[in-house]
Formats: sequence, C-alpha cells, structure tokens
Amino acid sequence: MSSVGYLCEICGEIGEIVHHKIPLTEENLNNTKISLGSDNLQLVCRSCHKRIHDELDGKGRRIIFDENGNIIPF
Ligand SMILES: [Zn+2]
Ligand SMILES: [Zn+2]
Repeated sequence: MSSVGYLCEICGEIGEIVHHKIPLTEENLNNTKISLGSDNLQLVCRSCHKRIHDELDGKGRRIIFDENGNIIPF
C-alpha cells in the first residue's frame, strides 16, 4: 500500500484527532504556533485522545479538532 495514512502517534492505530499538547483556548486560538505548529500537534486515535484528556482535564473547556481541522464542540 502506498497510502499509509496517518497513524496515532501513541498506539499506531488510525489517527483521527489532532491533539494539541498546549490546549487551545480562546486567547491562543489565533496564535498559529500553538494552533497549527507541528510541535504542538499530536495525531492520535479516539481512544488515546480520550485517555489523554481523562488524565489532563478536570478544568475548563477544551477545543477538539477532527481530521479535517473542523472544531468538534466538546
Ligand atoms: Zn491511539
Ligand atoms: Zn486533545
């Protein structure tokens, strides 16, 4: 197969969600280093993404993007 596609960086399953290591907020959403910078992006599958957020969350709202870059209301 020539089209490998994009895989979860954690478990190697099909990546579906772009996780932002520095969480996006309304204040930094326009900062492209954070919103689009590859250093801050991590492609993950849904189950890993859920696990990341289960561990990290606890306060505030997070903005999640699907694989097309559309915001998924959290
Ligand atoms: Zn995964
Ligand atoms: Zn995330």
